[in-house]
Amino acid sequence: MRWLLGKLGMAAGGALLLAGLAAPDVRQCDCDLSRPETMAARECALCREAEKQPPGPPVFFLKDINPRKPNRMLALPRNHTKGPHALAEMTPAERLEFWTAAIDKARSLWGDQWGLALNGDASRTQCHMHVHIGRLLDGVETPNFVVVDGPAQIPLPQDGNGLWIHPQGGKLHVHLGEIITETVLLR
Ligand SMILES: [Zn+2]
Ligand SMILES: [Zn+2]
Ligand SMILES: [Zn+2]
Repeated sequence: MRWLLGKLGMAAGGALLLAGLAAPDVRQCDCDLSRPETMAARECALCREAEKQPPGPPVFFLKDINPRKPNRMLALPRNHTKGPHALAEMTPAERLEFWTAAIDKARSLWGDQWGLALNGDASRTQCHMHVHIGRLLDGVETPNFVVVDGPAQIPLPQDGNGLWIHPQGGKLHVHLGEIITETVLLR
């Protein structure tokens, strides 16, 4: 019996190890364009997608390849920043360009029902900066937001948190302080 429990314990440990492998911690990502071997990791797949894009436009869009999220798109900057590609690593001008393009795309897809969601660092499985575009689900509103006039005023998330954004009365709500945010969008 003791032997059997030991076996079960090992099996559980193996499962945990696999779960750990399935969810890489992008905060540790050390990828660097000048060292192609570092870009080969699964968590750097969106970096490789960025490199496939023509060098001109600073923002590009991809359909979410997850078959369980058929209504989702991603907005991504063409350029890389280091490690987990924190939004704070982009210049204010780059962020304005990025948010403006992402909002335009979201509005073109979903009218005034659009939402954008950036997951917190701990819940991201890809290191390259990416924002989820989708239709905001009903009933997800919380009191935890700031109101801004437009993309130039979208604040930076703090402490590794994400943010989600939706239009409200001609302005934008920016919801802060959450790690898993994409769940406010239709899958
Ligand atoms: Zn990476
Ligand atoms: Zn990248
Ligand atoms: Zn709101």
